[in-house]
Amino acid sequence: MLDLRTCASLSEAAGILSGDRQALLIGGGTLVMRDVNEGRLTEGTLVRVTDPAFRQMSTGGARVELGAGVTMAMVLANRDLAFLHAAARAIGGPAVRTMATIGGNLFAAAPYGDFTVALLALDAQVVLQSGYGSGRAVALEDFLSARERGGQGLVTAVQFARPQNPAEFHFRKISRVKPKGISLLSIAAHLPLAGGRIAQARVAYGAMAPTPIRARGVERALDGKPLDQAAVQVAKQAALEGCRPATDAIASEWYRREILPVHLGRLLAGEPR
Ligand SMILES: Cc1cc2nc3c(=O)[nH]c(=O)nc-3n(C[C@H](O)[C@H](O)[C@H](O)COP(=O)(O)OP(=O)(O)OC[C@H]3O[C@@H](n4cnc5c(N)ncnc54)[C@H](O)[C@@H]3O)c2cc1C
Repeated sequence: MLDLRTCASLSEAAGILSGDRQALLIGGGTLVMRDVNEGRLTEGTLVRVTDPAFRQMSTGGARVELGAGVTMAMVLANRDLAFLHAAARAIGGPAVRTMATIGGNLFAAAPYGDFTVALLALDAQVVLQSGYGSGRAVALEDFLSARERGGQGLVTAVQFARPQNPAEFHFRKISRVKPKGISLLSIAAHLPLAGGRIAQARVAYGAMAPTPIRARGVERALDGKPLDQAAVQVAKQAALEGCRPATDAIASEWYRREILPVHLGRLLAGEPR
């Protein structure tokens, strides 16, 4: 039997999740409720949060904080977050975006997790609350490496620095069916320029490993260089470092490896898909 608990506060929800490692939070429920409706999830506790803090957004300043219960539709309705609109628009169709949360996207298995790819290229931190105490921030990359072990507790928010120049932030999702297809892969890149050279490139991929990953080889290839044809060529050569794509119903591992350098090159050169 499934037990549904509705919590008026984040700490009550965090307390339940840390006391019962099998309990699951329902964000927008686009994945959890599919498991319930299709009979894969029949036992345990589901936790729902009504605390307004879960959906709070602080978007006006240099540091952005988004509650984990913020939906893709809420991101799209916020002009301060225009640099994230391409990533939010990449999640399913309008009905899914109305429900799908940022928190849920952090847990979505590949090839899902497109919004998380954008957060990774922003060097985001995840705020975790594992009991009745206050939350602690961990790097999104560390959160993703630990994700398969489970038991992280409640994600209450994500935080990141706003790109100083939104034109230096790029996101692309490559799919066969447009506009709602599932990712063959997705790429996000934050490429700040200082004195005409890239300073601290952050590049991330989705669907190229079991979780979204940073493209460290590409970052190394780009750092300190002007974003010209030569840099794009070197970045393409390093594109596959650290990749472990799956073969699934959408594409084979081989195909994902073949197309990643092509799409990375187009993104870096500012060419259309
Ligand atoms: C038709 C369809 C199309 C889709 N297309 C895409 C797509 O294009 N790209 C994409 O990335 N995804 C896609 N998805 C998957 C999904 O909708 C999104 O990944 C979404 O962001 C998941 O968020 P959610 O709030 O619905 O997650 P939920 O279903 O509520 O939760 C998913 C998992 O995350 C856990 N969880 C959720 N929030 C928290 C939290 N705050 N703290 C701790 N645990 C939490 C849940 O317990 C559960 O295990 C699609 C789904 C459907 C049904």
